[in-house]
Amino acid sequence: MAKADKEAEAAETERAIISIQEDALAMKLVATILAAKFVDIKPQFDFTTESGFVYPVVEQTLNVKGKKAVAILESLADRGVLKKSFYDRLLRCPRCQSMNLRPSTNCPKCSSRNITRGRILEHSACGYVGVEDEFTSAGRYVCPRCKLELRTLGADYQSRGVLRKCRDCGEVFSVPLMKWRCLKCSSLADEDKVDEVSIYSYNLDETKRNWLDFELQSKGQFLEFLRQHGYEVTENARVKGRSGAEHCIDILATRDDGIVTHSIAIGVEIAREKVGLDRILDFDVKTYDSGIHNKVLIIIPTLGEGAEKFAVYQRIKVLELKDLEMLLTGGPQPDREIVKEPFEFKSKSQLMQYLEKQGYRVKKNAKVKGRSGAVHNIDILATRDEGIIIHRIAIGIGVAEKPMVLDRVFDFDDKAYDAGIMDKVLIAVPGLTGEARQFAERQGIRVFEVEQLEPEQPEEGSPES
Ligand SMILES: [Zn+2]
Ligand SMILES: [Zn+2]
Ligand SMILES: [Zn+2]
Repeated sequence: MAKADKEAEAAETERAIISIQEDALAMKLVATILAAKFVDIKPQFDFTTESGFVYPVVEQTLNVKGKKAVAILESLADRGVLKKSFYDRLLRCPRCQSMNLRPSTNCPKCSSRNITRGRILEHSACGYVGVEDEFTSAGRYVCPRCKLELRTLGADYQSRGVLRKCRDCGEVFSVPLMKWRCLKCSSLADEDKVDEVSIYSYNLDETKRNWLDFELQSKGQFLEFLRQHGYEVTENARVKGRSGAEHCIDILATRDDGIVTHSIAIGVEIAREKVGLDRILDFDVKTYDSGIHNKVLIIIPTLGEGAEKFAVYQRIKVLELKDLEMLLTGGPQPDREIVKEPFEFKSKSQLMQYLEKQGYRVKKNAKVKGRSGAVHNIDILATRDEGIIIHRIAIGIGVAEKPMVLDRVFDFDDKAYDAGIMDKVLIAVPGLTGEARQFAERQGIRVFEVEQLEPEQPEEGSPES
């Protein structure tokens, strides 16, 4: 699909969702359809109602009546959620709008309703034409006009077959004139003067099932999950990339821990069958340009060939609907309410306590094996498993007489890179040199320049691991 088409479709989808959510009843109906309570919504004739038909499932589900039910169905059809198909055509009285019309047959010559239907005989001698009944007299055929007896079919009389005859004007005809009698106001309307009303059945547009499922059900829970983990959540976030291009991130979740600001770019890719590699590539390029390294893709229903490998390679966490459900129902919940407090510390142990309060597991002098095979020593490693993302922060602490030089910062950055840790914090006592600071900034290292750290109290009992 061309990019412009995809964007146009996405915008249309967006509008549809917004308007559905605005209309709680429509949303409830869609949710019920999605839960497969019913597939087709068919009208049922009911001439006791004003419209002559009802949608019982809609009326029962939403507790609405008549026109309101039709209006909801129509609005969902307009939004492309439901497909409507012709079901039947009803006739409506042009005078009183009643749907209670009965057909009425009339003489095509004089319009009289006084017509009869039967075998039509013609008396050859006098030319009289009439219904068989008119000729019957005591078991014989007698012409009502000339009173002669009819004896032999095909000789002195003919049969014209079964036809109709007007009792008022005598016209014999095969097709009567159709009119419609209104049972409410009794007026009789010509066939071409009667209003015609089409009625429809509705069913879910199956190509929309996946996004509806997500948008109306899982998405809200997912956003709530993120908020519970302390994130601020922005949908359709506009992010300016390093290239200067502006990107739209489906869901951008950010949390400022004081020490590090975590950003997670969450993309939502929904296809009818499989999400292709091109979509994963687009997302990866977008997040890279935006400088966001926590990447999550919600994939509905599943990834296509080749896309999975690429996602793993690019460290994109993929959540399919089943993963999402598991995460939302059984994933790690925040142990306790995360308390936002000003980030400050006077000593290393205070810093560690602060991190623990933010929900991190904290390890001093952690040994981490890098991709190169080398084992690195990280002054403080803080880890927080949130189910979708495991955040790891490498904290380097440098205490010296003089400002930290570029080489030290470079080593730290190199170590974190090899260990695959993207969140980097450097605490420098008493500070950094100018070029070291510049390098740190460029590498996305959060720097705290501290005049001094309080000396550590010797820990009781437990030896340091
Ligand atoms: Zn006759
Ligand atoms: Zn007539
Ligand atoms: Zn009427």
